[in-house]
Amino acid sequence: MTESACPDGIDFFVGSERRRSQQPLEVRCPYDSRRVGSTWRATEAHVDEAVALAERHAPAMARLSGGERAAILSTASERLWEERELFARTISEEAGKPLRDARGEVGRAVLVFQTAAEEATRIGGEWMPLDVLEATRGQWALVRRFPLGPIAAITPFNFPLNLVAHKLAPAIAAGNTVVLKPSSSTPLTALRLASLLYGCGLPEHALSVLPCTPLIGEHLVGDPRLRMLTFTGSPPVGWRLKSMAGRKRVTLELGGNAGVIVHHDANLSYAARRCAVGGFTSAGQSCISVQRIYVHERIREAFESEFLEHVRALKVGDPADETTDVGPLINEASASRALEWIREALSGGARLLTGGERHGSCLQPTVLTDTTPVMKVNCQEVFAPLVTIIPYHDVDVALRQLDDSEYGLQAGLFTHDLGLVFRAYEQLSVGGLVVNDVSAHRVDPMPYGGVKGSGLGREGVRWAIGEMTEEKLMLYNPAGL
Ligand code: NAP
Repeated sequence: MTESACPDGIDFFVGSERRRSQQPLEVRCPYDSRRVGSTWRATEAHVDEAVALAERHAPAMARLSGGERAAILSTASERLWEERELFARTISEEAGKPLRDARGEVGRAVLVFQTAAEEATRIGGEWMPLDVLEATRGQWALVRRFPLGPIAAITPFNFPLNLVAHKLAPAIAAGNTVVLKPSSSTPLTALRLASLLYGCGLPEHALSVLPCTPLIGEHLVGDPRLRMLTFTGSPPVGWRLKSMAGRKRVTLELGGNAGVIVHHDANLSYAARRCAVGGFTSAGQSCISVQRIYVHERIREAFESEFLEHVRALKVGDPADETTDVGPLINEASASRALEWIREALSGGARLLTGGERHGSCLQPTVLTDTTPVMKVNCQEVFAPLVTIIPYHDVDVALRQLDDSEYGLQAGLFTHDLGLVFRAYEQLSVGGLVVNDVSAHRVDPMPYGGVKGSGLGREGVRWAIGEMTEEKLMLYNPAGL
């Protein structure tokens, strides 16, 4: 048995104070239910105290210079790199993510903090002339961004470090205080990160990290002292929380049923390899995971055969094993739910090309074809290692089918046809179109987010800083001098 990377009884943070409660929260590895560590669930009283601290200390945070904020963030980036193996093991144990992928996630978070360090010194503004009327001769305005103040952040289980980094790094860069509720399945990584940040010069009480139940999370969302809710998670929860957020600014990074088009002129081998990565990394538990692949009829057979070869070669199993490609789903219920959707598709006439078996919380990478648009495997978010192949003759029909979704996060398009690229860019209702790669391709500094049911607002450090700051105008009238 491997030794756990997570000590038992990690305290949570009410501001910079370490606290416990009467409610222990045990964290188990989704692969074998092995206990990997524990913390405590925060109560309503802890939330109230954390929000009060965030409000009280917001002015001190806002007064930090750009250089001071950059120094905290770049130290955090360096320390995270130094502690990368410990963080990777913590992620792997609590999320069941294969070690190799967990290491990749830490590398991404290192970049997010480094990017935030750079952006912290570049939050510029605008000077604009207002001498547009005779009455305003000589007048001008400055438009500057100011920190919002105390922010509530809520994060999901699937990237327990990098998605927390995408909240905290821009919030610190912008000069805000934060109260974070991490996922109850994966709170340990976030607590480790809070401890790291306080060791990098983050001012006293600038951050609280409160593992807690969804009900206590709702109490946090409803607190009128907070100026913003930044939420990453499932669409039903996100939209519900928006309705409870009152006057707060709200950004929602939600899910989808991402589609990819492989056109007949594409580099087929590259597309097949990338689709296997994009559909099955993190066991399909990524919001932009490839779920629907539209393939031109002319290359269908060749694509299918190469794609299936890659999929069948994926090694499923223990996330702690260095050679594992696909780990478990976050719990057995999620694997059972995905299997049910597969069975429903098969009974509706779909054909199983590979996979379709479950062992505990692991689902064998599964590929279906001959599906219909209304099957759950196509029209809902699968969030499991499950992909459908949908052939097409007319690429404009494929574009419309891909777009005929309640969601719109990212889409992929493999083609050499520039006309098609620009048509897709204009027509698809998505937050991002990835050309010659899969929907599941995210380079962390880029603007990232969805439209329709997939969310509101953008992350990616520069854009998140925009969401986490408020523009204030100063109009100057020289006539009064
Ligand atoms: P989830 O069930 O919506 O949970 C996300 C977070 O919200 C968790 O911290 C959860 O707490 C909390 N929560 C749940 N119900 C709540 C409530 N009523 N009030 C306050 N907080 C509440 O999502 P998940 O299963 O962790 O993550 C998977 C989902 O996240 C997928 O839909 C995926 O597409 C989406 N996602 C989106 C992005 C993106 O950037 N667009 C990235 C990653 C994931 P508990 O853990 O305590 O339940």
